[in-house]
Amino acid sequence: MSVLSGHCEDELCLNQSNHISIRVFPCLYHCKKMLCIKHLSEHDKYIDKQIQSQKQLEYLWKDYSLIFNEEKIQKEFQKLKTKLENYQQLSKEIRNLLLIKNFNESIENNQKLQTAIETVKKAIEQENQLEAMIGMLGYSK
Ligand SMILES: [Zn+2]
Ligand SMILES: [Zn+2]
Repeated sequence: MSVLSGHCEDELCLNQSNHISIRVFPCLYHCKKMLCIKHLSEHDKYIDKQIQSQKQLEYLWKDYSLIFNEEKIQKEFQKLKTKLENYQQLSKEIRNLLLIKNFNESIENNQKLQTAIETVKKAIEQENQLEAMIGMLGYSK
């Protein structure tokens, strides 16, 4: 460590120094600041602690990222989004069918209603199966 005389760049020292030159040392590790021996060691301690905390944070974040599994969540999110969009689309179609007031002998309306009934039945079935599966997974843990 090279010894120089000058002013410590720590704020406390700067305010009290009365511009008298003292022994200062450069912070060689991080910032090249010139500091008195007292502030250099404080500076080192703070920075060591920050580096340690940063390392700790890095490890913790890695752990959490592994547990979180962003890719899987993204896939599930996309699946749910598609599911919601399908539901909203179906909801529109069903609402329109339920609004039909002019009943007639048109085969078209009958077919549409029949198709919708089958679609909703299937959707309910799928939802029940899903519930059962989730239930089983829940209990097996
Ligand atoms: Zn430094
Ligand atoms: Zn100082």
